[in-house]
Amino acid sequence: MLTFDKLYSEGHEEVVFFSDPSCNLKAIIAIHDTTLGPALGGTRMWPYASIDDAIEDVLRLSKGMTYKAAVSGLNLGGGKAVIIGDPKVDKSEALFRSYGRYLESLNGRYITAEDVNIGVEDIEHVFTETSNVVGVAQIHGGSGNPSPYTARGVFKGIEASCTKVYGDRSLKGKVVALQGAGSVGRHLGSFLEKSGAKVLFTDINESNIDLFKEQVPSSEFVGVDDIYDVNCDIYAPCALGATVNDKTIDRLKCKIVAGAANNQLAEPRHGDILKEKNILYAPDYLINAGGLMNVSIEFEGWSDDKATRMVDTIYDTTMNVFKISDEENVPVYKATDLLAEKRIEAIRGIQGGYLGHLPHRFPGRKIR
Ligand code: NAD
Repeated sequence: MLTFDKLYSEGHEEVVFFSDPSCNLKAIIAIHDTTLGPALGGTRMWPYASIDDAIEDVLRLSKGMTYKAAVSGLNLGGGKAVIIGDPKVDKSEALFRSYGRYLESLNGRYITAEDVNIGVEDIEHVFTETSNVVGVAQIHGGSGNPSPYTARGVFKGIEASCTKVYGDRSLKGKVVALQGAGSVGRHLGSFLEKSGAKVLFTDINESNIDLFKEQVPSSEFVGVDDIYDVNCDIYAPCALGATVNDKTIDRLKCKIVAGAANNQLAEPRHGDILKEKNILYAPDYLINAGGLMNVSIEFEGWSDDKATRMVDTIYDTTMNVFKISDEENVPVYKATDLLAEKRIEAIRGIQGGYLGHLPHRFPGRKIR
């Protein structure tokens, strides 16, 4: 159940429920923290079993976005939205336009984008009613598919990890166990192959396996469960969260865990165990922030060059997190949180949240 104690305990500013029975819209938006700028985060559509499940999800995800934007140096806060429904039957133009009108009423405090089960075509309907949306089609000034930028950022995080562990950022001759040959995994595979790494990969989807083999011809397929046991330098989880858990952690033979998946550690204590085992963990929400960086510049005018330069900063930020981790003698996941929290606290001192106005970097744009 949603209570003020719950909101206070995790620092959420605002939770809004929107409903429109005419198109069966049931949406919840959580704005976690707008100290650094307007809250940005995608909208997810999911047939939640209960309202409580939807609330839990939106609160957790919106807080994660605050940390991701903060550590990435973006002038954005954290927010997320969920639409309760079955994407196969409940999607309609009316629903997304109604949702867009409600978003408009938030006056720019929350900017949305795609997330699970929400595609560009849905976002285009939202964009008909509000300008507070990113990830719109390139033809309308958007940035298109974020996956190549996410993959590039993950690659930069892997390079930083190699610098830390092997004293050289080069991937030449390194073996990478890549789990999840989807949109991000495929692009990451290409970066790794081009840099001279050997890629062992797995997936459960036949067509994605074929596509990966086509795009990364030197790669080798391994069984879905064998990916944890292979001899490798780097384990790159790019499918699901929580794959570093009690069942897998002792099987990993790598020196580095670095991938695109969100929430790779089943529990924070697994980050401590990795440190004890002398396995370097590159923080997931930092090294997978390339997609967020990419959409964040839509308001000021997106370009591939600008997005690429931003994403490449992930190398230095990751090195900085490793330095803090060493200096403070804390696991990397804690050092990443510290860096994010420090930045928010520093800015909170000079301004409050964005209540009802857009900062000058987000002037809005004409709706479609
Ligand atoms: P995707 O759905 O395109 O690819 C995921 C792949 O993982 C699919 O091919 C799927 O078959 C595979 N998979 C699922 N279960 C598996 C299992 N048990 N073992 C092996 N493979 C399995 O998703 P994506 O966009 O490539 O995202 C990958 C991960 O990165 C997700 O966790 C996502 O949340 C995260 N992420 C993605 C982006 C982005 O820009 N797309 C940004 C940040 C984080």
